[in-house]
Order: sequence, then C-alpha cells, then structure tokens
Amino acid sequence: MVYFDNAATTRLYDEVVEVLAKASVDYFANPSSVHSPGSRAKARLEDARDHISHMLGAKKNEIYFTSGATESINWAMKGLGLAVILGQGDHKASLMAAGQIGHGSHVLPLGEGGQVDLNALENINEDKALLSLTLANNETGIIQDLEKPIDLARSKAYFVHVDSVQALGKMDLNIGDLGVDLLSLSSHKIHGPKGLGILYIREGLEICPLINGGGQESSLRSGTENLPAILAFEKALEITLEDLESKIAYTRDLRDLMEEEILRELPHTRINGKDQKRLPSISNMSFKGLDSSQILMLLDMKGYQLSAGSACSSGAIEKSHVLKAMGLEDDYIKGSIRASLDPSNTREEVLAFVDCLRQTIRSLRAKA
Ligand code: PLP
Repeated sequence: MVYFDNAATTRLYDEVVEVLAKASVDYFANPSSVHSPGSRAKARLEDARDHISHMLGAKKNEIYFTSGATESINWAMKGLGLAVILGQGDHKASLMAAGQIGHGSHVLPLGEGGQVDLNALENINEDKALLSLTLANNETGIIQDLEKPIDLARSKAYFVHVDSVQALGKMDLNIGDLGVDLLSLSSHKIHGPKGLGILYIREGLEICPLINGGGQESSLRSGTENLPAILAFEKALEITLEDLESKIAYTRDLRDLMEEEILRELPHTRINGKDQKRLPSISNMSFKGLDSSQILMLLDMKGYQLSAGSACSSGAIEKSHVLKAMGLEDDYIKGSIRASLDPSNTREEVLAFVDCLRQTIRSLRAKA
C-alpha cells in the first residue's frame, strides 16, 4: 500500500504509539486529583505544556489543549463574541462555525492564486471583528500571505485567528513571530493521535470558554485532560521538527518529480496552484472531463491511497469549494484529486504511482 493522503491524517510514529501506551498506564490518574498519582500527572501535564509551547514559539500559559482543531476553531470564532471575517476557501470547520455566529460573518472571495481579496477586507465596516485566515490550504497547499491582511486587520483594530493545521511540520511556524491573537493546531496531521488539538490564546486576550464544566485549562476549557494523547503529541511534534528543513526539501523534490512526470505524460491535466507559494507536501491535480471518485477508486484498487481535496464525513466527494472559489472550470474541478506526501514516502513510490496514474487516466479517457 502506498499512502499519499497525509493531509487527511497520518500514521502514528512508532515512538508515539509507545508513548501513548506507556502514558496510558503510567499517567492514568486524573491530573485534578489531589493524591500523589494525580499530582504526578498534573506535573507531567504542565511539563508537556511547557515543552510544547517552546517548540511552537509560544508562552506556556498561551497553550490550551482541545479535542482537535475543529474544536479550537469553533472556540476561537465563538469565544470573542464578535463578527468573523474569513476566507472562502477555508476548512468546513471555519465556514460552518462562522455561519452559526449570531454576530454575523463576512466571507472574503479568493483570487485565482488562492489569496483572500484584500479589497473586500478593506471594505468591511465592522467596528470590531475577528479576521480568521488559513495559513496553508488543506486542498491545494497554497500558503496564505499573512502580512498584508493582518496589517489591514490591525489598522482596523480587528483580532486575528490563524488555522495552522496543515502548516505545522511542513513549513517554519513560530507562533510568537506571527503576532496573532489565536491559532489552531491539530495533532493527527503530524503523526500524533487523533482527538487532540491546541488553541493558542495570546496572553492577555479575553475569551469565553466554549466548553464549561470542572474548570480545567485555567477554567477556559473544561473536561479531564487527555494526558496520554498530550504526551504522544509532544513526542510527535519533537520528531516532526527534528531536521525539518531537510524533510521539507526532500518532500518538495518528491512532489516536483511527481508533478513533472504527470504533466509530461498526461495532456488536459492541471496542477492547481502550481505557480503559487505552496506547502511542499500537497499536489492538487485536475484531469479534465473525468470524475475524481472513479480515479480514486481505481487507484485504491491498485494500492494507492489518495483523496479528492474535499470529502464529507459520509465519504462522498463534494465539488471542491476551494477550486470553485479560485475560479477553476467545472470540467477540471470534477476531476481533481489530491496527493499529500510525507517524508516517509520514496522516489520509487512516486514513480510507480505516476505509472499507475497514467494507465488509469488513459483507460478512463478511452471509455469516456
Ligand atoms: N483545518 C484544516 C485546514 C484542516 O485540514 C483540518 C482537518 O482536516 C481541520 C481544520 C480540522 O482538524 P481536526 O481533524 O483536528 O478537527
């Protein structure tokens, strides 16, 4: 099996499995309990928060653990009680959360290159608002230029949230340097366990809790902390950031080789966002006139796991709202698939995949 769906989720690192299993036994006690195993668990939790905050370029008291980025994003958007401004190509977690907000939301259109429309942002007349941006798009890998929209937001005294789920471990990410108020991360995209996320909350920012209860996480996010998952995420982050530059360069070379071979072999094919600043790991390709679910099914039968950029929870493929927002023609959108690579993938896998893809596309075109 060749797994090219790392933007959907990743396989746990072996070391992470070990930490998860061991921590489930060693630190089973509730960190809120006053007895000694409870205090030990609490101390280890705070130690992990400290280590994780250092690795991310944040302060310890700015890191809050959640059940995943979907929760973090919902919290960021609903916790300030302000109107939300976001991008048309954002993840469904953002679009749906913003859509539910009573204070209203404004959706910024995307240009062909996948960047949010700054004029539309300029023209918004809210006294107070939260601007939410996605640092790296999960379907195309396109990196949002943050500087200009954040400057504009600051000039209007708006708060800023950044969904950095796909960016973590694929590009330099130092939260302190970004100078934002809120930032969401997810563990399972970097070989950590599922069901764990982070919301970074800038020191001093006042935000209401989304989840109320026993007062964990400084009374801002209640619920018994998932300490084994937090420790496993700590390990996953440590491994991910080790020698990151060479992992990025290696993955980019693989991706470029894949795209070069595909474009050389297959006419009526586009790589979406090819000329844009992108993550090294994601390649979003469109095969004119074909149906992505057929392509994916045939590839899966031959041992290659990929996704369409957007699949809903039922597994059905929806027409990509991201490619549509970027103005791609329907004929190309319907036939678009996403390969998302990882440093564990090899050149041999890529070349064998291109071969298989070529045969698949040719056979589908012959039948069309
Ligand atoms: N934001 C982006 C850009 C994503 O790619 C994802 C996951 O696919 C999420 C948010 C949601 O993350 P989680 O699965 O941790 O809820």
